[in-house]
Amino acid sequence: MSFKCIKVGLIAVAAFVGVNAFSQDLIARQAPIDKKLKSVDSLALQKLIKAEQSEFPAFDLYPSWNQTSVHNYAGATVPESYTFDLTGFAMPTPSTRITSKFGPRRGRMHNGIDVKVYVGDTIYAAFNGKIRMVRDQGRRKGYGKYIVIRHDNGLETVYGHLSKQLVAEDQLVKAGEPIGLGGNTGRSYGSHLHFETRFLGVAINPALMFNFEKQDIVADTYTFKYNKRAGRSASGMMVADGDGVIRYHKVKSGDSLSKIAAQRGVSIDTLCRLNRITRKTVLRLGQVLRCS
Ligand SMILES: [Zn+2]
Repeated sequence: MSFKCIKVGLIAVAAFVGVNAFSQDLIARQAPIDKKLKSVDSLALQKLIKAEQSEFPAFDLYPSWNQTSVHNYAGATVPESYTFDLTGFAMPTPSTRITSKFGPRRGRMHNGIDVKVYVGDTIYAAFNGKIRMVRDQGRRKGYGKYIVIRHDNGLETVYGHLSKQLVAEDQLVKAGEPIGLGGNTGRSYGSHLHFETRFLGVAINPALMFNFEKQDIVADTYTFKYNKRAGRSASGMMVADGDGVIRYHKVKSGDSLSKIAAQRGVSIDTLCRLNRITRKTVLRLGQVLRCS
């Protein structure tokens, strides 16, 4: 395929996206591509566009193929609502044991789910997609050896604490394809898989989509809702939980309950109730407070 062909394909796809974005109909954007292509009479062009879909997964949502950091979505617009097709899934591990859930944990936000695996256990790609990052954060740091995949369905998945990575950046993978081996690298105490599901950087509880105990998806689709008015916090600690969005605030130097309340648009009483603290509680630096 020549470069010129790719360019033609991209322009054609961009035209479709443009029309849909204009109508602000984000769900329609996800209508089966076949439907949208009915107006195109060239079979060759249809094939080309389909090929581009996997070469640039979910390109209508993500502004760039950024490989400098895990969470960098400058210029991205998070839709208020988006429905993911989960049917092409594969479980990242056959393990059914969750060792740590998603949510605030010991004053930090746990942006993923921990599943028990042993060093050397095969880890699989959750959906079709393209490998965005294959990195190592080093000994006892962060994710350790990790992999980030951007999927055709709009999700990104992160696999952390691996002992070995079996794929390379920019490689296309199919759901269920082995991508790495389980391990205990990075900030990990005891071998496990740290698994994240993200949408434009917003961490979504993987348990809302994947049921590890049953080794199945929760439903064929998952509809993500985003509270635009709340905005995304500077620390990126915004998480979608069920139908609502829970906002968190990481305590910085100089923060007080009244300052946080004003900044986050909630009352001090609400802050106290949500975090089971009182107005007299001394805030710790780095402490994570629930704000909604
Ligand atoms: Zn974890």
